[in-house]
Amino acid sequence: MTAKRCARCGFVLDIELFNREAASKDGRGRWCRACHKTYAAERPRPPLSEDKRKHYRARARAAYAADPDSRRSYIYAWRESRPGYALAVDRKYRTNHVEECRERRRAWQKSHPEYNRAQTRDHNHRKRAGGLPSDVNRQSWEVLVVEWNGRCAYCGIRPERITQDHVVPLARGGSHTIANLRPACQRCNSSKGTKLLAEWIAC
Ligand SMILES: [Zn+2]
Ligand SMILES: [Zn+2]
Repeated sequence: MTAKRCARCGFVLDIELFNREAASKDGRGRWCRACHKTYAAERPRPPLSEDKRKHYRARARAAYAADPDSRRSYIYAWRESRPGYALAVDRKYRTNHVEECRERRRAWQKSHPEYNRAQTRDHNHRKRAGGLPSDVNRQSWEVLVVEWNGRCAYCGIRPERITQDHVVPLARGGSHTIANLRPACQRCNSSKGTKLLAEWIAC
């Protein structure tokens, strides 16, 4: 085995770890391959010209149009591998496209009324509970509903739309937590209102 010292990292390495270079005396380059690689990765690059940028963007759009599914999974994988960068790109996009983002969000919310209603409900509940930390989210709420077999905790019917009743009402200092929640039909929920359980049952 022949070895030589890399002029960059200074390690003495197997000659095979140097790229071939016909012009040099020993037929190999001065830097080892790893050094070439790290240099390429660290080298400051000039910003893309506007033409180049347009060219790349058009090419990416065409590839997406041709095969959206595979492009999408490629994009997701790319984002996963550079989480910080992807977030920064998103943030930049949002600051430069405030109006578009708002429009898109509105359109999405319009086509997902259920989600929207749940968001508003959670937001209001949290606010009325004094903004304290809450363990109520879509998942924990769904678990609770399943525990009650989708039935109203008070009258036992299985309503089409189940509502969140706070056992100790928020207005009476109750917390917006799973422990203080029962699934209830709209009728029981409205009837109980801001009463405590004992007060409600008594009347
Ligand atoms: Zn080296
Ligand atoms: Zn009920």
